[in-house]
Amino acid sequence: MARYTGAVCRLCRREGQKLFLKGERCYSDKCAINRRKYAPGMHGQSRKKLSEYGLQLREKQKAKRYYGVLESQFAKYFEMAEKKQGITGDNLLSILESRLDNVVYRMGFGMSRPEARQLVMHGHFEVNGKKVDIPSYLVSVGDVISIREKSRSSEKIKAILEATSGRIVPKWLDVNHDAAEGKVIAAPQRDDVDLELEEHLIVELYSK
Ligand code: SF4
Repeated sequence: MARYTGAVCRLCRREGQKLFLKGERCYSDKCAINRRKYAPGMHGQSRKKLSEYGLQLREKQKAKRYYGVLESQFAKYFEMAEKKQGITGDNLLSILESRLDNVVYRMGFGMSRPEARQLVMHGHFEVNGKKVDIPSYLVSVGDVISIREKSRSSEKIKAILEATSGRIVPKWLDVNHDAAEGKVIAAPQRDDVDLELEEHLIVELYSK
């Protein structure tokens, strides 16, 4: 399935919550969710009772959209989560949080996950001193993520660092904003995920 290229605010409105896909605008009064908290389209304001399957599907779509992951990759993550010890839903979220594009965003090196994804693909980051341009790269505890030396002088990167200097960084990451680098100090846990999600519904969906 191809990547969605339409108006991203529609995705948040469809899920009924902020997915933070647009950077600064998401934190402002201009956010579409603040103004129109109903699904887009002609029938968006009419409340429909979802079936069990519909609810499960919505939760999966929400997680996919939040992390910017396509169906096949999401299914692969689910398989990985099932094989790991512990609760499958928690494992799934931990894997999604460990994606390099998410880590870059969470460290404040990107205004949004989509932007972080693009910056990674454009080769602005290193993991443990080596360039990595794969957004789906999964980081491990101990990894050091840094903005590449030559990218630090870019106006865009400087503007991002300035705008995100006050952003709260989750406790599993240790960021030195001035040095433009951060370290993964623990594996992300369920309570580190900000998204309102009933991940057990995703597990039920894949268990059918
Ligand atoms: Fe748009 Fe961001 Fe608000 Fe979502 S959270 S509706 S992407 S402005």
